[in-house]
Amino acid sequence: MTASFHPPQRTLLGPGPSDVPARVLGALARPTIGHLDPLFVDLMDDIKRLLQYAFQTENALTLPISAPGSAGMEACFVNLVAPGDTVIVCQNGVFGGRMRENVERCGATAVMVEDAWGDPVSVDKVGEAFAAHPEASVLAFVHAETSTGARSDAEALCALARQHGALAIVDAVTALAGIPLAVDAWGADAVYSGTQKCLSCVPGISPVTFSERAVERIQARERPAQSWFLDMQLVMGYWGGGSKRAYHHTAPVNALYALHESLVMLQEEGLEAAHARHKRNHEALVAGLEALGLSLVVAPEWRLPQLNAVHIPEGVDDAAVRAALLTDFDLEIGAGLGALAGKAWRIGLMGHSSRERNVYVLLTALAAVLGQQGHSCDAGAAVAAARASYGA
Ligand SMILES: *Cc1c(COP(=O)(O)O)cnc(C)c1O
Repeated sequence: MTASFHPPQRTLLGPGPSDVPARVLGALARPTIGHLDPLFVDLMDDIKRLLQYAFQTENALTLPISAPGSAGMEACFVNLVAPGDTVIVCQNGVFGGRMRENVERCGATAVMVEDAWGDPVSVDKVGEAFAAHPEASVLAFVHAETSTGARSDAEALCALARQHGALAIVDAVTALAGIPLAVDAWGADAVYSGTQKCLSCVPGISPVTFSERAVERIQARERPAQSWFLDMQLVMGYWGGGSKRAYHHTAPVNALYALHESLVMLQEEGLEAAHARHKRNHEALVAGLEALGLSLVVAPEWRLPQLNAVHIPEGVDDAAVRAALLTDFDLEIGAGLGALAGKAWRIGLMGHSSRERNVYVLLTALAAVLGQQGHSCDAGAAVAAARASYGA
């Protein structure tokens, strides 16, 4: 007989998933009802309104895709890009590379604008790309690059897209609820996110929102999107149909209870308060890391408070440190990805994981593990620096 699975209680300080609060896990365990039950239809309407708040948008086409952030990414590309199109894709980390693959699989041409890993997307280079490719119909970029911890100027990039008559596809998987994101005010056209980062919900759902310009582009398509499941024309009949909701697929009913609860919690805290909390804990973490003699990959102005890429000191065994944190302290941090593999750790303070307690726990545990590796550092000094940052 195979036994039931009982995971340990970890502290999740990596690039996602983040810690899911008990309130959200509790919502997940409520009785399953039918996905066309009138009460479930009401819940879907609630979720849409709560997502509009989180995205700061009035877009009617705002909904959670029943699949992870990568599916939200794909939904944006397959609906807005057609064979023969030109798309300007910005790459300053892992996720811009995935955007390129999406564009190419849509039969379109990706014009790449590349920046160093850890740097923001260069707005000037994107301007030059538009000048060289006036036919570009879409600009795609990552607002919060989780592989490096760099923020890009989403407002300026969306403005540039608009100025050139192109739609802006924005990856806000890690941005949403962690840093300001004003979909309507910035004129972003197709924005996708994920539930397991700063929303601290269970993984596997992707909130998306499409502007009216994007909806017009979808409705004017000559041939249907290549993906049946992610075709917004069909999904709209399910999420946008009101009481005449048509069956498209079975929504992940309980996971949507969880999403609803996490969005209610976000509304209770308030977006601005959530952003301020992420910033406060990030500043304390950085103060403590610097006291340990560690340095961050990204320049201060472009650092994401929810994802901190830290240089691995010379002579320290990357995998051994992460393994010791996990086995001895039940604490997860992320490895470096791509160009930063083996060179940086990624410490996430996302959503419910962004708490004062976790900053102290991480600093203390990391100091202990680094000490075992012969990299002597002072845990007390790190905690004191974090406390001072909090003003305590
Ligand atoms: C996590 C992440 C994704 C992918 O989300 P999944 O839920 O893992 O599919 C996409 N883009 C960025 C910036 C991310 O951080």
